Amino acid sequence: MKQFKTESKKLLDLMINSIYTNKEIFLRELVSNASDAIDKLSFQSLTNPELAPGADELAIRLSFDKDARTITVSDNGIGMGEQELDQNLGTIAHSGSEQFKAENAGSQPGDIDIIGQFGVGFYSAFMVAGRVRVVSRALGASSAFVWESDGVSGYSIEPASDEDCAAVGEHGTAVTLFLRPSDEDEDTDRFLSEWGLKELVRQYSNYVRHPVQMMVTKSRQKPRPEDAPEDYKPEYEDYEELETINSMTPIWKRRASEVEQKDYDEFYQSSFHDWVAPARTIGFHAEGALSYDALLFIPAQQPFDLYSKDFEKGLALYSSNVLIQEKCADLLPDYLSFVRGVVDSPDVTLNISRETLQQNSQLRAIARRVEKKVLSELKSMRDNDRDAFERFFENFGRVLKFGIYNSFGSKSDLADLLLFWSAREGRMLTLAEYAQGMPEGQDKIYYAAGESRERMEQVPAVRAALDHGFDVLLCTQDVDEFMLQALRSWHDEGTSGDSEGDGREPRDLELQNVSSADLDLASDEEKKEAERATADHRELFEALKSSLGEKVGSVRVAAGLGDAPASLAAEGPVSLEMERVMSQGPEADRAPKAQRVLQLNAAHPVFAKLVAAQEAGDEERLDLYASLLFDQALLVEGLQVDDPIAFARNVTRLM
Ligand code: ADP
Ligand code: MG
Repeated sequence: MKQFKTESKKLLDLMINSIYTNKEIFLRELVSNASDAIDKLSFQSLTNPELAPGADELAIRLSFDKDARTITVSDNGIGMGEQELDQNLGTIAHSGSEQFKAENAGSQPGDIDIIGQFGVGFYSAFMVAGRVRVVSRALGASSAFVWESDGVSGYSIEPASDEDCAAVGEHGTAVTLFLRPSDEDEDTDRFLSEWGLKELVRQYSNYVRHPVQMMVTKSRQKPRPEDAPEDYKPEYEDYEELETINSMTPIWKRRASEVEQKDYDEFYQSSFHDWVAPARTIGFHAEGALSYDALLFIPAQQPFDLYSKDFEKGLALYSSNVLIQEKCADLLPDYLSFVRGVVDSPDVTLNISRETLQQNSQLRAIARRVEKKVLSELKSMRDNDRDAFERFFENFGRVLKFGIYNSFGSKSDLADLLLFWSAREGRMLTLAEYAQGMPEGQDKIYYAAGESRERMEQVPAVRAALDHGFDVLLCTQDVDEFMLQALRSWHDEGTSGDSEGDGREPRDLELQNVSSADLDLASDEEKKEAERATADHRELFEALKSSLGEKVGSVRVAAGLGDAPASLAAEGPVSLEMERVMSQGPEADRAPKAQRVLQLNAAHPVFAKLVAAQEAGDEERLDLYASLLFDQALLVEGLQVDDPIAFARNVTRLM
């Protein structure tokens, strides 16, 4: 018995048990080796035509024997001679494939996408097998050899018997794994089934460029006998058929002009388990220090778990046709978490396990490009296919908004992709469209945030703004106001450069909650009126404030309330709507409260009643009015009154 070279025992144990997180990748490794062997054969026969392989189709075969608990991966590739078996399989971390690439560098006809490079993949077989037996016959050799090992004590190499020779034909390799019994750690039984093997091939080796074939059992109807009786029932029989189980050509490597949209749709739907076709398909190829192909999709509908904590973003990452990571999160920014797709690069520097990359900078470079492409696709959708864009926004707008919020507003380029409901126009507008519709004299973008549009349309501040000819953007999503506050302002590029534009100069427009206490919509006349009322009735405001106590920060007169007797506003960073949203969140107890201000309409008959009650010294009545006005203002804002019973009692008392 020969000993493994290098400190192999320890090394082998180390590698078998700690390189890979997932034992099932053993099949990916063996199929990859078989594919490399076929590539090498093709290459050799191109350079040495006398070595041309037989007429057999070059393919990888899988088979299994449930009773013997074996799986065999065979190929009719270049094969290995006695020496190569010794060197390639007897030396851990010696890669015959890497050597092959180096020896033939520069002279490769076409692109030989050799997968192997580390010289460890083969040993992953020992993660599931107690014994591995390799029969191999090198191209042009007269006989085959058998390499065998238990992965612990060493390995043996012997001439193959006639039976073994038959298994590999003229050239090629057959690797047989004797699976260990299933235990708590690993269910190896699942690999001993047609279904189990097919799944693994589809998952990891679907795009390996050579056919991976397996004999599968199928069922068919027997032909109807000539003399079949009237009540003949069709009979069925099982038969075996060689099936190719991988799809080979990766759709993302085909030229876009040669692929029909329906093929992309089908690929998307089957790979990403969606039952509707994508809204957009984006394919591109990058060349340079790092070349890669990418095929991205913007789904047409929201995945049901998009907002659950189980949702995982990421693109599938392939290298040389082999799956590296199913969901590589680093390829997508959070605000594009809804994007699905594939990135494939032969140039990325793989970690030895082939499960991750060694270099994050490579991922970052790809991610930047992906981000740019998706954003420009979304912009073009916004400008050229508004209906589709509005549907997109309905599905994924909230993800973009969280992106702005979580970046503290630094992702302001995303703001150009936002849509808001316009109270004036009754449709969705971009911020640019809002700016375009701003009348002379308006220098801020006004929005309101609340539970429903209908309700916000009734809020006095919104009505006042509309009366002034100022449009108000009505926001109903929980994240809206947080995002707008993070954004603070929006840069209007203006249109003075365009020949057709209205000649707006570029400017920064502040985003302002229309209900904020410092909103300055009133006319000078109204303001003077309000100032006078404030000065004249200082005592009234003090009395109301002390009656309401902690509920409000202050009470004052406000102009521009229209026909409402009073309204609530907020001072400081937390608005009433934000308070409402946070009070429903997971940290409701610690959620900050808005600084409330009770605003009174001095022109309203109710104000006269307040003044009268205060002048008459009727404290009880003043208390009643104060609490009623406060509660009804809460209700108008969509907030809950603290004590509904007291509110009801107060209303009755008044009647
Ligand atoms: P890698 O594929 O990264 O080189 P492996 O441990 O998977 O490393 O394989 C080691 C070497 O064994 C390969 O480089 C190759 O030279 C040889 N080898 C493995 N499987 C086959 C096969 N089916 N046919 C021919 N050579 C093989
Ligand atoms: Mg390999």
